[in-house]
Amino acid sequence: MAPTTARAGTREGDFWARRDRLRTWIREKTPGSCNLGPGCCSCTTRITLRLLLLITLTVLTGAAPAAAGVGKDDDVGALARKGTAAIEQRRFGEALDAFTKALALQPENPTFCFGAGVAAFMLGQDETAQTRFERALALNPDYLDAAVWLGDLHYRAGRLSEAIAIYKMTLRRSARRSDLEAQLATWSKEQELHDRSREVRTEHFSTFFESLSDEPLAREAADRLETAYSRVGRTLGVYPSERITVVLYTREQFSTITRLASWSAAAYDGRIRVPIAGTWPERDELDRILSHEFVHALVATVAGRTVPAWLNEGLATALEPASSENGETTAARTRASPNLSKMDQPFVDLSREDAEAAYASATRAVRRLIEQRGIDAIVALLKDLGGGTPFNSAFERRLEMRHEDFAAR
Ligand SMILES: [Zn+2]
Repeated sequence: MAPTTARAGTREGDFWARRDRLRTWIREKTPGSCNLGPGCCSCTTRITLRLLLLITLTVLTGAAPAAAGVGKDDDVGALARKGTAAIEQRRFGEALDAFTKALALQPENPTFCFGAGVAAFMLGQDETAQTRFERALALNPDYLDAAVWLGDLHYRAGRLSEAIAIYKMTLRRSARRSDLEAQLATWSKEQELHDRSREVRTEHFSTFFESLSDEPLAREAADRLETAYSRVGRTLGVYPSERITVVLYTREQFSTITRLASWSAAAYDGRIRVPIAGTWPERDELDRILSHEFVHALVATVAGRTVPAWLNEGLATALEPASSENGETTAARTRASPNLSKMDQPFVDLSREDAEAAYASATRAVRRLIEQRGIDAIVALLKDLGGGTPFNSAFERRLEMRHEDFAAR
C-alpha cells in the first residue's frame, strides 16, 4: 500500500462507479427508505444519507489500510480501521473519537478529516463536521466525497448559496458531472425562489413565502408554529435555540424542490417545507402538519441524524395536537403492522398504503413507550443518540429493555 492516503478515494471514475453501483444496489435491496407519509419526511435531498454513507465506507475502507501501521490500539492504522468499522455499524460517537485520535497522529491526512466529518455530521455536530470537511478539501482540493458531504451539510443547514458554491467548485474539477449538475439545477431553482421570497420573522421561526397574497397565511403559520414550540417544548422539556426556517410552497414548487410523492403533506430536511401557498388549510390540519414538522426539527437538534424513522415519525405523530386525527384513525383502518426492526430508514418510496401502515405502527410503538416509560425516558434516549451512544445501547439504558424485545411485541 502507498504510504500516503491523501489521494485515496478521490479518483472521479471510482467515485461515480461506486455511486452508480450503490444506487442500483439500494434500489434492488431496499425498496423502502426515506420520507413521506400522511405527514411528512426528513430526508429530501436527491443524494440520501444512506447512499452517502455507503459510498463513504468504500472510500474509508480503501484508504484506511494505506495509513495502517501494525498492531497497537493507538496505532494510526488501527484507529482508522476502528473508525471505519464504527461508521459501518453506525456507532458514530466511537467513529468520531477514533478519527479524531488518528488526526492527532496524522494531522495532514484528509481521509481522517473526512471520516471525522462524516461521524460529526451524523451526530448533528455540524460545526465540527464543516471544519473537518473543509480541512479535508484544503489538504486535497480534489476530494470529491468531502465536497459532496460539505455541500449536503450546507444545504441541510439552510445555507443554500454555500451549498451551490461548493457544488460549482466541485463541478469545475469533475469530468463526469450529470448527477451533480442535476442537483445543482434544482438548488439553483430553489435559490431563485428564495431570492424573490418575503419573510415573516417571529421569535423562533423565519417563514418565507413568495406571493404577497400569502402573507396572512405565513403569519398564521408562524403563529401556529410558535404555539407548537411552546406546547411541544413544555411536553419534552426541550426548546431548540436556533431559529428554524419555514418555507411555504405551492404544490408544484414543493414537488420540484423536494421530489416527494404527490400525497406528502410536508417535509423537514433542515427547513420545514409546506405546500400550502395559495391555499387556506383547515386550522386543525395546519396545526397538525406544522407541529409534526416542528417535532422533526426538535429531534434533529437533540439527537442528530441517527434517529430511526419509526421513532422520529412516531414521536412527531404522537405529539400532534390532540384536536387532530392523528395515528389512531390511520391505525384503525390499517391491518398490516410492519415490524419496527424494518422501519429504521425513512419511509420514502413506500406506497400510500404502506406509508400509512408504517406511520400507524410507529405511532403505536411510541405511544406504548410513553405509557410504559414516560416521555422523559424518550428524551433521554434522544440526548444519548446526539452524544454518540449507539441506538440499541441507548434504548436499553433509557427504556430498560432491549430494542429487539420491544420490536418483537
Ligand atoms: Zn414526519
